[in-house]
Amino acid sequence: MNHFLKEQLRAIKEELGEEDEEKKEINSYKSKIRKAKLPKQAKEKALYELDRLKKCGTFSSEGGVIRTYLDWVLELPWSKETKDNLNIKRVREILQEEHYGLEDVKNRIIEYLALKKVSKTLKGPILCLVGPPGVGKTSIAESIAHALNRNFVRMSLGGVRDEAEIRGHRKTYIGAIPGRIIYGMKQAKSKNALFLLDEIDKMSGDFRGDPADALLEVLDSEQNNTFRDHYLEIDFDLSKVLFITTANTLDTIPRPLLDRMEVIEVSGYTSEEKFHIAKEHLIPKKLDELSIEYNKITFSDSSIYNIIDNYTRESGVRNLERKIASIIRKTITEMLEKNKKKMNITVNHVKKYLGPVQFTYDKADKEDKVGVVMGMAWTAYGGDTLPIEVSTMKGKGKLEITGQLGDVMVESAKAGYSYVRANAEKYGIDFKFYQDKDLHIHVPEGAVPKDGPSAGVTMITAMISALSGKKVKHNVAMTGEITLTGRVLPIGGLKEKSLAAYRAGIDTVIIPKDNEKDLLKIPKTIKNKLKFILADNIDVVLENSLI
Ligand code: ADP
Repeated sequence: MNHFLKEQLRAIKEELGEEDEEKKEINSYKSKIRKAKLPKQAKEKALYELDRLKKCGTFSSEGGVIRTYLDWVLELPWSKETKDNLNIKRVREILQEEHYGLEDVKNRIIEYLALKKVSKTLKGPILCLVGPPGVGKTSIAESIAHALNRNFVRMSLGGVRDEAEIRGHRKTYIGAIPGRIIYGMKQAKSKNALFLLDEIDKMSGDFRGDPADALLEVLDSEQNNTFRDHYLEIDFDLSKVLFITTANTLDTIPRPLLDRMEVIEVSGYTSEEKFHIAKEHLIPKKLDELSIEYNKITFSDSSIYNIIDNYTRESGVRNLERKIASIIRKTITEMLEKNKKKMNITVNHVKKYLGPVQFTYDKADKEDKVGVVMGMAWTAYGGDTLPIEVSTMKGKGKLEITGQLGDVMVESAKAGYSYVRANAEKYGIDFKFYQDKDLHIHVPEGAVPKDGPSAGVTMITAMISALSGKKVKHNVAMTGEITLTGRVLPIGGLKEKSLAAYRAGIDTVIIPKDNEKDLLKIPKTIKNKLKFILADNIDVVLENSLI
């Protein structure tokens, strides 16, 4: 019966001309498989699937699934590679031309190239560029691909929650597709591409499995030569891929994943650095995009500084880039309307095009006050200043804390309070103050949740100032974790914090003594303008901040 039906089907197909079509298609797959230089395992699998396709017919629904599968296998770059540019001098030139600064990243790539020249078996490093938004992490990665002559693919991991997004769905699911890694490799068109995994700190896991587990395999140079996607069901060799990942913060990257990567910190820029980036890169890039000659629209130096200092407030240069684009658009309009051939943008033009000044960096108080201390915070968006206020009122020793603080910060406030109670007399405060006074700690600008222990010294200083009535110097900012005995412990993000203090018009910053080594990483322009005081205990902090 079965045989009879099949014969009938064949006769019908012949009648419709499908038989030929099918044969043609099968033959075309056959020759593609032959030409594709597939590794043994992949070739066997492809031929096996082709055999199934023959049996069930290319026009059946099962046939459709198999064809999609074969297309995927055939389009992957199993053996295609681009030839690396190993001319170190040229690579350095390209990197230098396309980006200002970012020396650590550039040097690491040059180092990799140098090693690659001597060793044939060298595995690519897996770099993780960490820093605030807009500091050029993504664009330097693209530049590296350009300099090395590699294809570039970018994939954002932000919001990825499901393991299957990385490793694919099994073919048995309707509408199954490979995961993002294989998808990326198909786009890359070469097996030694530069693969950028953006926002690796913004993945999360749920009941469907943790994408980080799948990424572990991808980023492990010991086992990523046999990466297996659930959909493909055959190993793909990722060992020649140069992986670069980016993140805003290391805190949310799972530890095992972090261990497999080499972290390079990319920190925010000073006004001077931003000036160079704007003048040498952002403005020419925008003009190029619009094919406008450089001498038709020029920017005076002071106009660039004006945009940086009064219209943007960021660690990176993304807003700066937007503001410049906006000015260029408005300038072109004006040139057309008023029939001008050339224009030089001045501070007045900036004001005319961008409106009134949006930020004033002079955030530091102009006068010394009681109970108000400038702290410094470090968030995923870069550094910021964080004023802390304390006031006292009649009461019974209650400690009130407000301003959207995280748990760690609240605890650090409590520890600070205990320290102040235990040592009140030392600072000329009546030790019984808690019997008739309440204390209120407030951290304004509550829109951004803040956490971390590094505001410890700031809170103690504000409390002691409020209780003793001594004023705090307005030009001082501070950061440091505190212990119950008043020791000052080291903190993270010193460079970002110093930049923020400098932007806010502070001239003296008190930092933990153990952070002395980090001073090396602070740009000279900042060091010339800020005085750093190293404190190992709270008394040094108070001596230098209270009047
Ligand atoms: P991130 O990935 O760190 O968020 P992007 O790579 O998107 O930042 O950078 C934002 C913009 O700023 C891009 O147009 C980039 O070219 C430019 N940019 C950032 N840093 C530099 C730099 N050091 N030199 C030149 N351009 C830069």
